[in-house]
Amino acid sequence: MIIDGRLVAQKRLDLVLKQVESSGCQPCLATVLVGEDPGSKMYVRMKHEACEKVHIVSVKADLPATAATGEVITKIMELNQDPSIDGILVQLPLPPQVDASRVIQAVSPEKDVDGFHPCNIGLLYAGTPRFTPCTPKGIMTLLEEYNIPVRGERALVAGRSIDVGRPMAALLLHRDATITIAHSKTRDLKDEMRRADIVVSAIGKPRFITADMVKPGAVVIDVGINYLDGTLCGDVDFDRVKDVAGAISPVPGGVGPMTIASLMENTYMAAMERSCTNVP
Ligand code: NAD
Repeated sequence: MIIDGRLVAQKRLDLVLKQVESSGCQPCLATVLVGEDPGSKMYVRMKHEACEKVHIVSVKADLPATAATGEVITKIMELNQDPSIDGILVQLPLPPQVDASRVIQAVSPEKDVDGFHPCNIGLLYAGTPRFTPCTPKGIMTLLEEYNIPVRGERALVAGRSIDVGRPMAALLLHRDATITIAHSKTRDLKDEMRRADIVVSAIGKPRFITADMVKPGAVVIDVGINYLDGTLCGDVDFDRVKDVAGAISPVPGGVGPMTIASLMENTYMAAMERSCTNVP
């Protein structure tokens, strides 16, 4: 089974549009982009396009590549205090001179639609999530939409980043999976992976996960966004692994669209919680 992220994302965007229209709210997302990195610019543009589709207002705060940590934080403070802004998204990665963790911690937890603030990560791990990071949230939506059982399954998350690996593991744990988190120091990834019923790969190495590493019938979710000889590909050797896996998400067209759909869901949620609590 090929897991179609574009289809599910469209379904979710349609739902957000309906919710926004019937809420009487006007959610607003602010993006913060530091520098001119073409990939980051493209992601920010895609997020603004998605906002337009679901009738969420979006504003841009673009800063030069030379911006210091203080300047980025000052901009975020302005957005925190602006009552018209519901969600703030800081596009990562930031230029090397900017202290990313200070910037992430400057975002008001109530407007942290990326869910990276330690308060929100803490709430997630406490089992009472507020904003769930968009990529793992989107993956859980895919598993639900495809009725993929999670309870009691062995799940392996490859990668331990704050944006993908760690929150992914927390979400799978909440759904009663038995979790392994693999990372760059894991002794025998193949051995760990061969035992997993569900594999989520967020490593960032092109076609690194090969067919012999996957248990027959396993569900394989590929988060990786890599380029090999100029071609976009995931962490998984899709053409071969699809013959072994029970279900697999492709790159492109798998997790990527879900990340953006989840951002729209989080922004709508932020608006409801901040300014529209009186609206059912
Ligand atoms: P990261 O660089 O922060 O983390 C990579 C992780 O991979 C690290 O935790 C590292 O320990 C682990 N790793 C490296 N080598 C490994 C190995 N041999 N075995 C097991 N683990 C290993 O990256 P990230 O931000 O988590 O992103 C990972 C990938 O996912 C990247 O390709 C990124 O572009 C992509 N990504 C995609 C989306 C999306 O929406 N589709 C969103 C975020 C990230």
